[in-house]
Amino acid sequence: MRPFTYVRASSVADAVGDYAKSPETCFLAGGTNLVDLMKMGVERPARLIDVSHLPLTSIEEHEQGVRIGAMVTNADAANHKLVRTLCPVLSEAMLAGASPQLRNKATMGGNLLQRTRCYYFYDPSYRECNKRTPGSGCAAKSGYNRIHAILGASEQCIATHPSDMCVALLALDAVVQVKGPEGERSIKMVDFHRLPGNTPQIDTNLHPGELIVAIDIPALPYAKRFAYIKVRDRNSYAFALVSAAAIVDLDEEGAVRRAHIALGGVAHKAWRATKAERALTGKKPDAANLRAAAEAELADAKAYQHNAFKVELARRTIVRAVTTAVGRA
Ligand code: SF4
Repeated sequence: MRPFTYVRASSVADAVGDYAKSPETCFLAGGTNLVDLMKMGVERPARLIDVSHLPLTSIEEHEQGVRIGAMVTNADAANHKLVRTLCPVLSEAMLAGASPQLRNKATMGGNLLQRTRCYYFYDPSYRECNKRTPGSGCAAKSGYNRIHAILGASEQCIATHPSDMCVALLALDAVVQVKGPEGERSIKMVDFHRLPGNTPQIDTNLHPGELIVAIDIPALPYAKRFAYIKVRDRNSYAFALVSAAAIVDLDEEGAVRRAHIALGGVAHKAWRATKAERALTGKKPDAANLRAAAEAELADAKAYQHNAFKVELARRTIVRAVTTAVGRA
């Protein structure tokens, strides 16, 4: 591990101001991903600013929705009454993630910033990884790519985003609040993460030195008609092969007035299934319409040698998530 200096920030302003002193700085919160990456030599910051003690730990009603501080742990958020009541899909998604020990330590802000679990990214003995070393190539394209992307990938990177939480936040139209050297900014969840394109080393649209301070989740009056379905190789402590968050509003006739559908495990970011949403709007959520919506969403999917199974799995996960949500009174 590269030697680094450590400072503990006493305020958000301190943290943001300190960051500007060195370009090789990382913010440290729960550390459940960053410290692993540092041990493996994937992340090599010269300086850590510990933001874990900042007073960003409240969960409160905000403009009829919920505001969750960036330093709230995943466990505290998932089990909080406001979250369980106003956005239960978020609670369900977070409880499907990681393990109890990790959820007790991992923070909301850190979860947003966790990096891909691509095997080749984590192992510096593989030279080819454009995300770790821009311009070096992508070992996963010709390697073992069972967990990799089927939507939105590029020639440079076919990695997936590993978070469950982000899938639910995307379906909920959450907004990330940040503070940085240029002031405060709100970033819609749909714009927070990036597709890989030609710069797969950049995961988010955060500017240098910006610190996540909170996540706002609007209240959806139909949020109780929800589901989070996670398909994985074992039933706990495993990342999603494919996951889907669904929230569905039905009209008096039982047709879909509005569907929110997001997918995990399929792309470099949580993937909003807008084609499926549009295909379902105004239709009865029966088997034929659900299948057609899922087919529409996956029409542009591109599989690699070992992950072709994900295309059909994603279709079926969309169908199951919406069916489960619709069945919830
Ligand atoms: Fe690296 Fe992305 Fe290729 Fe994985 S998929 S080896 S993270 S460039």
